[in-house]
Amino acid sequence: MTTDLQNVIGHELQFEMFRRATSRQRLGHAYLFTGAVGIGKRTFAVHLAQALLCQNRPGDELTACGECPSCRQVISHSHPDLFRVGLPEGKSELPIEVFVGSPEKRGREGLCHDLSLSPMQGGYRIAVIDDADKMNASSANALLKTLEEPGPGAILILIAIDSDQVITTIRSRCQQVNFTRLSDQDLHQILTRINMVEHEGELDSKLLEEAIRRADGSVSKARIAMERLQAGESHELHKVTQLLGRRKIMSADLAMVFDEVTSQAGSDTNSQREAALLIIETCLQYFHQSLTMETGISQLDQVHSDCYLDAMDRCFEASRQIDRKISVPACLDQFCHDLEMLLRPTWNSAGQ
Ligand SMILES: [Zn+2]
Repeated sequence: MTTDLQNVIGHELQFEMFRRATSRQRLGHAYLFTGAVGIGKRTFAVHLAQALLCQNRPGDELTACGECPSCRQVISHSHPDLFRVGLPEGKSELPIEVFVGSPEKRGREGLCHDLSLSPMQGGYRIAVIDDADKMNASSANALLKTLEEPGPGAILILIAIDSDQVITTIRSRCQQVNFTRLSDQDLHQILTRINMVEHEGELDSKLLEEAIRRADGSVSKARIAMERLQAGESHELHKVTQLLGRRKIMSADLAMVFDEVTSQAGSDTNSQREAALLIIETCLQYFHQSLTMETGISQLDQVHSDCYLDAMDRCFEASRQIDRKISVPACLDQFCHDLEMLLRPTWNSAGQ
């Protein structure tokens, strides 16, 4: 099976740009790929590298055969002309050692040294630098010289979520390529393909639809949602739905259950944010379902429908706050309080 860039789902414009640049022999030596998490920037970069390094690539096209020794080496992470670096586990910064080696071997190892050598197999020497927005000043300085005077055939592909977070001297020396969120259709194709490779089983179409709805155009978010849905939503999330089903929703009860869910996520801030988003999503779904159910049975109680609409708006606002990295406990506390206030008018309404 060929594994060329045309097989990368989505990002057609970016593919076309690189196809043209390659056919005109106008590839740049440094690119900065930017865009949301989990939308395929790194996958695109590695497929691009594979296509450029493929020994059976027809002339100026961007096609990789998937079978030549070079393609096999890319797939097995052992190609001598392809280097992939990123944030070391447990670190919050991309350290200088990645670029120029340890203090004892400074300049004699590391990515900058590797890129200064001629390609081993002819053609290109390619670096994929993930988390480029996590470079500190000394890492950036170390990479700067390579960006200014790249070795023969060197191509650097830097990857970051937000270009504004990349140190200016680095950013200004790269051609920026922006990647957009994947469409629902693209996500559907990608998830089906991943499932074929990993499980070979049929995907539950309702589950897939729901995961895509929660994914916001990101494969990684969709996969997390799938896992959760396949495992069945947790007992605690079920409690959230039960609480919302009560006639009188008290903020103190909500706060207690929300706290249970987030504390299960552990102390890691990102996991806590994910847990908070899941809670908010659960609430949003509940209000949405209640609204459509009531509308459906044509006994729409104006008080209830107004309250549910307001509550849904409040859910969207809470999600945005979490995305903007507002403290999870502070955000959820206010969210509980506001939900109680917003839903109070339903307490004495005849609708339920
Ligand atoms: Zn090949």
